[in-house]
Amino acid sequence: MDLPVRSIRGIGTQRAATLSSLGIEKVGDLIYYFPRAYIDLSRVMPIGKLRDVMDTGEYVSIMGTVRTFDTAGSPPKQRFVLVLDDGSGFIPLVFFQQVRYFKNAFSLGDSIAASGKVTSFQNRPQMLHPDLDRIEGGAEPGAAKAPVINTRGIIPKYTIPGELKEAKLQTKSFRRVMRSALDQHVRHIPEFLPSDLVRKYDFLPLHLALTNIHFPSSQEMLEKSRRRLKFDELFLFQLMLAVRRNGVKSTKSGIRFSTGGELFRRLHSSLPFELTAAQRRVLDEIAADMRSDAPMNRLLQGDVGSGKTVVALLAMLIAVENGYQAAFMAPTEVLAEQHYKSLRALLKDIPVNVRLLVSGQKKRVREDILEDVRSGGSEITVGTHALIQEGVAFSRLGLAVIDEQHRFGVAQRMALRENNITGNIHPDILVMTATPIPRTLALTLYGDLDVSTIDELPANRKSIRTAVRFESQREKVWQFVRSEVAQQRQAYIVYPLVEESEKLDLKAATESFEELRRKAFPELRLGLIHGRLSMGEKEEIMMAFRERKLDVLVATTVIEVGIDVPNASTMIIEHAERFGLSQLHQLRGRVGRGAAQSYCILMAPEWVAPLMNAQATPTHDGDSEAVRETVVRRLQAMVETLDGFKIAETDLELRGPGDFFGTRQSGRPLFQLANLVTDSQLLSSARREAFELVDHDPHLQSSSHHLLRHRFEEQSRDALNTLQTG
Ligand code: ADP
Ligand code: MG
Repeated sequence: MDLPVRSIRGIGTQRAATLSSLGIEKVGDLIYYFPRAYIDLSRVMPIGKLRDVMDTGEYVSIMGTVRTFDTAGSPPKQRFVLVLDDGSGFIPLVFFQQVRYFKNAFSLGDSIAASGKVTSFQNRPQMLHPDLDRIEGGAEPGAAKAPVINTRGIIPKYTIPGELKEAKLQTKSFRRVMRSALDQHVRHIPEFLPSDLVRKYDFLPLHLALTNIHFPSSQEMLEKSRRRLKFDELFLFQLMLAVRRNGVKSTKSGIRFSTGGELFRRLHSSLPFELTAAQRRVLDEIAADMRSDAPMNRLLQGDVGSGKTVVALLAMLIAVENGYQAAFMAPTEVLAEQHYKSLRALLKDIPVNVRLLVSGQKKRVREDILEDVRSGGSEITVGTHALIQEGVAFSRLGLAVIDEQHRFGVAQRMALRENNITGNIHPDILVMTATPIPRTLALTLYGDLDVSTIDELPANRKSIRTAVRFESQREKVWQFVRSEVAQQRQAYIVYPLVEESEKLDLKAATESFEELRRKAFPELRLGLIHGRLSMGEKEEIMMAFRERKLDVLVATTVIEVGIDVPNASTMIIEHAERFGLSQLHQLRGRVGRGAAQSYCILMAPEWVAPLMNAQATPTHDGDSEAVRETVVRRLQAMVETLDGFKIAETDLELRGPGDFFGTRQSGRPLFQLANLVTDSQLLSSARREAFELVDHDPHLQSSSHHLLRHRFEEQSRDALNTLQTG
């Protein structure tokens, strides 16, 4: 695995250099470059039969020779049409992209395999943007003596980046190189999984799995290889989390708080509502952690409005009445301010000193707060990331609550603890997230945390009615807003970030605002809030809205998280197609907080209308087809469910886990094969086995774990880097 790729037949200096630029240096890197798809040439459909699968959405492969090809139409509807013939019939393959490239890519008589869905055009089968693969012949060098790996059985398809193509490492030669790599080296790749695991789950031995993931001898072997290699990915990752959690747990140098004190009881009995059963349960879990001498490392998740804040406050009071300080870190100043206010309100008859630390404060005020933090006078300190900046030193931090962890990285979570270890005493950490995370992802993203879930909303919540509306219905929507306001309710109108540039964004929001004020709602009181306002200005507008001095709050997404104005009953989201699903859900969570029936109206472009209730995909606009499908599915999900966890599952399915981890920037998915949604069972097994193994052998020192340890050390370096960027 550690040999340079040069040692593989068919790879010379030039190809090695190109591969290296793609991060493939060693034989192991190449062998772990898995195919992105396969064509099963033993299961190719005759073209004459394609009418049977037309518009069914089924994914099929066909094989034939190029009869004709040409461009048709003119921009922007210009397309490249290639007719493929296999003797049983012929079919047009249609491409709207890369028309220029395609024009010169084929010769008459080329043998080609195409895979994709068969759609209809004028009631005849066609394939739109199928995946193409040359089978034999064609323009590629050396093709005349194409080995059987290209023409028989299940053949792999790799993502071949442009650089490789330039280095003449195209589809077919890439397959050949991979074949040589496997023939020469795969037998020497050691089995790192403990043999009892391989037996227990009936896994393929590693070398067989690696061979068959590239060149499967049958569909069944392909499936077995995938299962084995997915397990490897999930297991190694869980192992990393297990080792980390074990590290924290085994320090045994947390604080033993005693629970059930006076302050806690007073707050509990002064609450204007009963805690829900779910709130009581998570409080018990938190209290048990706080009593233990290991530092708490717990994630508290619960949908928007499920009442996490009051739970966190009760936990903070445990710390306070034990003589420790608590910190509450929020992701934005507006939120920190709001938490500060609501904590003070809840504590109005209880003598606890609460202070707010954010970055925009006057020097004198700031000095005063810092002194209070240092001396221990500030018992609860609410703030933004200002809390983990230089010069902030708690005298005795006992509990740190981190709200909306999503916005912070793992690194910040660590910082809040590590900056505040006094004489080897670790403060407890409670991470809260309202962005619902599917269970599978929580296990991965927060796998080193214990998880508590509030899975129940307070009983007084009305369900929010959600609808998609279009420009043509605009006037009705505005009338609806007027009628809600006439009933003393308030509304939000939210605009997306239109441009990357804040300036343009602001311009768009301001213009819309002026227009709303002049044309749509001259008789109402409107306010505008956006990211460019100062802390004070934002707070002033929020205050006015809270105190019902404004009827309608026009906003860019600064209000996304955590704003709590129970009298607001209507949320209108403009250009809903531009928002991500979890963002839409967050925004919707701003209403439905009071006794009145609430509404969420998603304004979408006209083309969405015919698709909302149909399975059909629009015709003929290949590239945006996928985008449109995603948009429609997002909006449908919003209309269909209020359940944040279902929303999150759909979101994960649509986006893939990359976004959750922030790996889009680093450009590397966490797993090549494993899918956190569809492989959740395998994930659970991997997690259980990894944690059990670490329980028995915390440092992977037993001789049967020698190879595992080696593999693990390499892998966790990569994974940690990936995680930290998220
Ligand atoms: P979250 O932070 O989970 O989104 P909050 O803690 O902000 O939710 O709570 C939302 C609102 O519900 C607040 O106004 C809070 O006072 C109220 N609330 C919390 N728990 C309950 C409960 N058990 N019954 C009724 N209202 C509650
Ligand atoms: Mg909250």
